[in-house]
Amino acid sequence: MIIDTHAHYDDEQFDGDREELLGSMEAGGVGLIVNAGSTLESWSRIVEQTEKYPFLYGAIGIHPDEAGSLSEERMREMEELLDRDKIVAVGEIGLDYYWDKENHDIQKKWFIRQLETARKKDMPVIIHSR
Ligand SMILES: [Zn+2]
Repeated sequence: MIIDTHAHYDDEQFDGDREELLGSMEAGGVGLIVNAGSTLESWSRIVEQTEKYPFLYGAIGIHPDEAGSLSEERMREMEELLDRDKIVAVGEIGLDYYWDKENHDIQKKWFIRQLETARKKDMPVIIHSR
């Protein structure tokens, strides 16, 4: 069985064929998928998809390119979502100095903050490193 530990099927690029694509996973040998969070908007879509597809699990986190959208209030929201049964990791989180969309200090601050949350929840992390 294939396990995909890092996917983004909530992304709008799958809006046209998501049902068909996810419906073909079992026949293609993919038994389990972890869909990783990236933006604040992705969180609700991921939770929704974990409820719809038995083989789909989720990670909740903010990608370094979006780090500036985090706040302590959003971190509390993240912590609540991390308590859900099919949310299995904090991610994706990390640092990205290639696209350089966010200030490095802001990226570092929220990367550390999300790592602390993962430690507190005793959960694995999905790390973006570029
Ligand atoms: Zn990713």
